[in-house]
Amino acid sequence: MSKPKLAYYLAGGCGGCDIAVVDISEMLVDVALAVDIVFWAPTVADVKYKDLEAMPDGSIDVGLFTGNVRNSEHEHIAKVLRNKCKVLIAFGICAACGGIKGLVNLHTTDELLDKAYVNTFSTDNPNKELPQTTCVVDGKYELTLPTLMYARPLDEVVKVDYYIGGCPPHYEHVKAAFTALLSGQLPPPGSWITMGK
Ligand code: SF4
Repeated sequence: MSKPKLAYYLAGGCGGCDIAVVDISEMLVDVALAVDIVFWAPTVADVKYKDLEAMPDGSIDVGLFTGNVRNSEHEHIAKVLRNKCKVLIAFGICAACGGIKGLVNLHTTDELLDKAYVNTFSTDNPNKELPQTTCVVDGKYELTLPTLMYARPLDEVVKVDYYIGGCPPHYEHVKAAFTALLSGQLPPPGSWITMGK
């Protein structure tokens, strides 16, 4: 019997939700052996975005989406994952509700760039250089950075099947989620998955 296929994507988050997965400690080994990780970005599995897009729709059993939707890449991958995954989970409060990362909506992009790259005590940037939205690599490849957007929770972009709260999610919630997913005993669609449910 083939293993359930799992995808994981970090969008506009901090990586703390990645740590929440590792935080299930010895259960991580059981999960790793029980699933086939087909996409884990941007950190672990050597699967590129174009490989994800080539997968048949509905071919991934579970997708975990962490962080909110903050730029055009996040929005695109959210839509791709929605098409590829039978079950899509907003993992962590940024994906579920916007989270602390949603505070960027209180400021303009110019204010945020100024605070991050120019106007702090620890910044040495006399020419007020800011990140460029395009650059040329090796003199031949032009790269364009994703466009920043108003930060949104995942369900403002695509339909979400389940939510896991917390910042980051408590390991007992993550364990409960993997237990439910691997046993096939999922709560009603639209539920928040918490410990013991
Ligand atoms: Fe980081 Fe918390 Fe957002 Fe997870 S929910 S990505 S830990 S800020």
